[in-house]
Amino acid sequence: MEGNTVREMAARGMERLRRAGAESPRLDAELLLAMVLGKDRHFLYMNPHYRPGGRTEEDYAVLLDRRAGGEPLQYLTGVQEFMGLRFAVDPSVLIPRPDTETLVETVLDRLKGCCGAGVTGQNTAAKGAVAEAAGQGCGGGETFGLGMNSGTINALDLGTGSGAIAISLAYYCRRLAIKAVDISPGALRIAQKNAARHRVADRIEFLGGDLFSPFEGTGQKFDIIVSNPPYISGEEMRRLPREVLHEPQSALYGGSDGLCFYRRIAADAPGFLRKGGLLAVEVGYHQAAEVMDLLDQTGAYTGMEVVKDLAGRDRVVTVYNVRGE
Ligand code: GLN
Repeated sequence: MEGNTVREMAARGMERLRRAGAESPRLDAELLLAMVLGKDRHFLYMNPHYRPGGRTEEDYAVLLDRRAGGEPLQYLTGVQEFMGLRFAVDPSVLIPRPDTETLVETVLDRLKGCCGAGVTGQNTAAKGAVAEAAGQGCGGGETFGLGMNSGTINALDLGTGSGAIAISLAYYCRRLAIKAVDISPGALRIAQKNAARHRVADRIEFLGGDLFSPFEGTGQKFDIIVSNPPYISGEEMRRLPREVLHEPQSALYGGSDGLCFYRRIAADAPGFLRKGGLLAVEVGYHQAAEVMDLLDQTGAYTGMEVVKDLAGRDRVVTVYNVRGE
């Protein structure tokens, strides 16, 4: 009999990654082997005695070496799941984090009753209809949601990266039309591919630029601005886990105190939000108070809220714009 069985290969792969200090050696070893075989992980369990032969062992060894050297699993497999959707990723984009689902869920929650019959299913659509019939209106609140019971809801995603935020928002809320900005051409290419894959490319326009730069002087106003900006401080950059060092520095580094992008967003967002419009940003777990201060100092916002992630840490700050019309 030629070569090793997949069970033997997976066991050795796991041992290799365990020795290299990988956090989930078994899962990673299995996922990489499944990938080399062009199958899913289930296949390994159903066919433990299968001997793939050919180049499989060499190809697998190369991937194990890269993983053992600290490359994130997702850059090797090329995918990360986020909000129940599969996103293509490569080293030009930050790997979407589960924490960031809190940001998407917060915005969708504020849009409750606005989205109509999206793919979230009958149930959500039915609840929306009830909320609107009860006169609560779309978006619920007093300040936000005025005049939004019909038509397109315009959103802006700053620093879209893989597009995970913009695409999942568009996917779960069919009334959203989104402009998604990123300074990295590589990121925009991946994001466009992801939007096409999830069939929302017709409602998302991807633009190259630095935060609000594509809209300066256009007079454009949005109903919602959302962002997961880079927020790692200089001090924290020096202590990043080695895997995170493989991710683009431009997606992580938020200036020496980590707050540089929040300063710019806090100052400029009121000029691009309609009155009553929502600003929702992800923050580092220890940054909520500082970000709230920055927003407060502008005098441009009301209704500030902090939302915690599933681990109970502060993760999202939201405000409504009081300026303009
Ligand atoms: N949450 C990411 C991390 O912990 C940072 C993402 C960001 O800077 N927006 O690595």
